[in-house]
Amino acid sequence: MKCLVTGAAGFIGSHLIERLLCENSNQVWAVDDFSTGNKGNISNLLNNPRFHFQQGSILDKGLMEELIDECEVVYHLAAAVGVKYIMENLIKSIKINIEGTENVLEITSKGKKKVLITSSSEIYGKSENYPFNEQSDRILGPPTKLRWSYSSSKAIDEFLAIAYYKERGLPVVITRLFNVSGPRQVGVYGMVIPRFVKQALRGEPITVHGDGKQLRSFIHVEDAVGGLISLMENKNTNGEIFNLGSPQPVTISKLAEIVKRLTQSTSNIVYIPYLQVYSDGFEDLKYRVPDISKISKTIGFKPKKSLEDIIKDVIEYYR
Ligand code: UDP
Repeated sequence: MKCLVTGAAGFIGSHLIERLLCENSNQVWAVDDFSTGNKGNISNLLNNPRFHFQQGSILDKGLMEELIDECEVVYHLAAAVGVKYIMENLIKSIKINIEGTENVLEITSKGKKKVLITSSSEIYGKSENYPFNEQSDRILGPPTKLRWSYSSSKAIDEFLAIAYYKERGLPVVITRLFNVSGPRQVGVYGMVIPRFVKQALRGEPITVHGDGKQLRSFIHVEDAVGGLISLMENKNTNGEIFNLGSPQPVTISKLAEIVKRLTQSTSNIVYIPYLQVYSDGFEDLKYRVPDISKISKTIGFKPKKSLEDIIKDVIEYYR
């Protein structure tokens, strides 16, 4: 299979490409502009004759036409990611997430090539009615609270994808990722596990935002990429939306304790008010836990790695 991966040098993109290249019959074309992606994530792949990398932007229509022309399916992962990055790059984030996805959908629709659109658990907003299933209502704050631009831009991506499926017959599958973590994830754009692990390994305070009672469920990147590939390969996923994550939640203060224990760190766990971390205009989510019954039923999805496995792999990576 000839696959295109956008956002190739990103944390998830690079793991996905490695997995795709394990199959000798696969060839991977890949694009990244290195805005948040890291060259080091794909440097070991560049000598592989079945890997074809192009530096560039998904906003470059000419480039995207060339790349999509080469391929049979498209994994569209390129996006502005990380709460911190989004809060600091407001216009760029909205543009990349909406215009970039529209380019991918418009061009793939000409050849009716299957495309996987990666959306986000941010879609559900601050709903307290968890676990969230794909039909759950979205509850968002006002546009003056800047975090919600990400949720809204991803929702537009989903609307666009469904519109291309219905009006143009484009085979498209949408997946909402819930807190993917693992080796190569960096903490600079938010991303709590690599941040806590680095703080713990350096003996610095482990910084829990707010009261630490917020709930998240983390999935190992290897489980996540397995899910992405199965969603792409299964014909029953066309025109559908799937949560992809772990159904096991943990509070952020408990997470800090587990990281401290597994690193055998002497770091203190400290609590920092949100206003000190982000400028005005931030609102955190209390709950973010997926109902994964739809994806389990459709492709037999079940995460294999536990939270401790994820943290141990991140510790090993940063050591
Ligand atoms: N968080 C934290 N300390 C940090 C970074 C993040 O307590 O140094 C919190 C953050 O406020 C959020 C949770 O950890 O409640 C998960 O943050 P992340 O950015 O990883 O993901 P998201 O907020 O998108 O779920």
